[in-house]
Amino acid sequence: MNIKDFRYDGSKKFNIKEFDTNQTGEFKDREDAESNRDDHILELQGLQDRLYAENKEGLLVIFQAMDAAGKDGAVKYVMSGINPAGVSVYNFKVPTAEEMDHDYLWRAMKAGPERGKIAIFNRSYYEDVLVVKVHQLHLNSDLPDRCKTKDIFEKRYEQIRNYEKHLYENGFRIVKIFLNISKDEQKKQFLQRIDDPAKNWKFADGDLKERGFWDQYMEAYEDAINATSTKEAPWYVVPSDKKWFARQLIADIIVKTMEDIDPQYPTVGEERKAKLAEFRKLLMDEE
Ligand code: ADP
Repeated sequence: MNIKDFRYDGSKKFNIKEFDTNQTGEFKDREDAESNRDDHILELQGLQDRLYAENKEGLLVIFQAMDAAGKDGAVKYVMSGINPAGVSVYNFKVPTAEEMDHDYLWRAMKAGPERGKIAIFNRSYYEDVLVVKVHQLHLNSDLPDRCKTKDIFEKRYEQIRNYEKHLYENGFRIVKIFLNISKDEQKKQFLQRIDDPAKNWKFADGDLKERGFWDQYMEAYEDAINATSTKEAPWYVVPSDKKWFARQLIADIIVKTMEDIDPQYPTVGEERKAKLAEFRKLLMDEE
């Protein structure tokens, strides 16, 4: 799949109204798309193993989406084949009192990846330019008045660009994924959650209220993505009306990003090789 078609790195504008959320690339149907699932998982396993062994770069994968777009399923899919020791998932909820007493990047910094590992953010500091912008939550926060300026979100975009550049320049790769669904598809998903007893738990009372702000969210996503698409930390906008397509594309994006890192198993020098030969001899000489 050509992941470039879905990549925003500052060289083109993202226009949310023109984006087809129902596209499925070269795949005819789910079966066709999932036929390479095992290959993906094997590739991811191999790359993760080398990333871990090399212990130089770390990878941060950010997932953002409207409710019911398939974020959790995508996280599960990506995680399915990989070594749990090398990955962490952090869910960004409504900030706690402790988190609110810090700047909005603080909790992200704490949860960021270590070298050799993958950190997955299920939502992220982008909430601070999405839900906070749509509902103007900063106005009722403990931020001092001097910070509650009209251009607060422009400033945050800049802070985010700088933060991501800082991470990149210190050995971390960042991939940002927006699972883009249509309002109609969200309705279908919500109805399933209401109708299917096994899915009832997924439906929250506030979900319909947020759906009422759909247009404002779309505008906030478009603005945030255009303002923070960079070469170092590109956005990928993933058509998500067909979840099976979104998952394949996401797996591809992560595999290709890791291929780009191209982690290598550490090699040993002559001295170490001689030492290993000694250990081998000791083992072989055991009674
Ligand atoms: P999810 O929908 O990701 O499965 P939840 O149902 O717990 O998980 O939703 C998390 C909620 O936390 C979302 O409504 C999200 O907008 C909200 N949230 C996350 N970060 C912030 C923030 N910085 N300020 C306000 N709300 C936030």
